[in-house]
Amino acid sequence: MKKLLALLLALCLMLPVLVSCGNDGQANTTATNTAQGENVPEANYDGKAPKYIFLFIGDGMSYSQIQATAAYVGATTDGDGKPKNLNFMNFESVGSAVNYTTDSIIPDSAASGTSIATGKKTNTGYLGLSPDGTEKYESIAEKLKSQLGMKVGIVTSVNLNHATPAAFYAHINSRSEGTGVSTQLFESGFDYFAGGTFFKSSKDDPDFDMNALAEKYGYKIVSTYADAGKLTKDDGKVIVFEENPDTDGALSYEIDREEGMWALSDYVSKGIELLDNDKGFFMMCESGKIDWASHANDAATIVNEVKALSNAVQVAIDFAEAHKDETLIIVTGDHETGGFSLGFAGTDTSTAFELLSSQKISFQKFSDEVIPTYKGKKIDVTAIADMEKYFGLTLEGDGELVLTDSEYARIEEAYKSARMGSRPTSPTEEQKLLYGDYWPLAATLTGIINNKAGLNFSSWDHTALPVAVYAQGVGSSMFIGHYDNTNICNNLMKIMNVK
Ligand SMILES: [Zn+2]
Repeated sequence: MKKLLALLLALCLMLPVLVSCGNDGQANTTATNTAQGENVPEANYDGKAPKYIFLFIGDGMSYSQIQATAAYVGATTDGDGKPKNLNFMNFESVGSAVNYTTDSIIPDSAASGTSIATGKKTNTGYLGLSPDGTEKYESIAEKLKSQLGMKVGIVTSVNLNHATPAAFYAHINSRSEGTGVSTQLFESGFDYFAGGTFFKSSKDDPDFDMNALAEKYGYKIVSTYADAGKLTKDDGKVIVFEENPDTDGALSYEIDREEGMWALSDYVSKGIELLDNDKGFFMMCESGKIDWASHANDAATIVNEVKALSNAVQVAIDFAEAHKDETLIIVTGDHETGGFSLGFAGTDTSTAFELLSSQKISFQKFSDEVIPTYKGKKIDVTAIADMEKYFGLTLEGDGELVLTDSEYARIEEAYKSARMGSRPTSPTEEQKLLYGDYWPLAATLTGIINNKAGLNFSSWDHTALPVAVYAQGVGSSMFIGHYDNTNICNNLMKIMNVK
């Protein structure tokens, strides 16, 4: 035994580089690993500070959402069919960020938004507050406003009191306290809010009075495109609510957006017009429904949302062209949603992303407007015609969108709840895996299109994949590398020299 120990000790001494012996005597080959988020290399910045900062956050957007869109664009535009870079993929500085929270490897938007906004980690569901709930974490937007006098704009395609926008102005231990978050929106004193209406929840304070708060804190509220279009700098602090919010209060999905309705890019353009001033501005713009479509495993809707984000980024790129050496643009995500994979067990390495273009409607619009028409009806010619009209799927003919027998059997099974007029109230384990919380028919039809295109999902919720960070302009080099997402705020603080 002694001999064996001596031999082991000798081995440890002989191989100090390859193998380190831990205190418990176990060989440890991971000696060079550093703790993610705790051992971040110190980055110094001695350049100039930008006057204008754009921070775009694709909620639920990681590499798969971005690359699927790049591949979809390549597959649906003339040319060689190869993936095409979205505008922000050409930015000069690229990094990636991990995003675990104090209580979960897989983050929610409140905690990951807080990391990006304040440079500090917190618990799932918390906004701008320490994990023990005692300390307010000041956001980069609050710092730039109070210390440098910059104007602040907060734009989102979802509710203005939703987690990601709220991470920049709220300090509260529950993202679902809708009226509590909304009250803090008014208290922030930020200059431009634009996006969906406030979400409603059972936790809402019945005494919440939006108009009284607007008057108290000096906000002008508009809720039509015409009134939003007429806003000028003389209007002071403004809140612009979407004129045609969906049932959740958010902007329409891009795939469903109708002529004349404002896109995310329109809200960014208006923001620039109102925020531009001698001291500069900080604008956070969230594309929130990349997450919602990813939760629903609806690939066609995802790629259209990412394209809408790219269009909004283009507005900032054009502005930066006219304000050279004064502008910084960052595009990132807060987490991945859906376990979205480019590749599917049934199609191996072959893909046909162009098939997504045959889907003409989001899972949401199909669920809200089409599925209710099937109540009390057997699957008939109308339902079969709808499958072709909205998803391009056919029972016969040729081409890649012809349904196989097993696909049609899945549709027949999923149709049953549409006919009954209600989703399964106590779903079986199998139903939960197949449909999540969604209408079985919507989940099945989008799922078939996804798979025919060579795409798949492994979750109806968030995953722990790191996110990409793209940066362009003044200070962008500070965002190169693989780091914790708290560094997005911390490096912005260094670039702007704020505390
Ligand atoms: Zn989500």
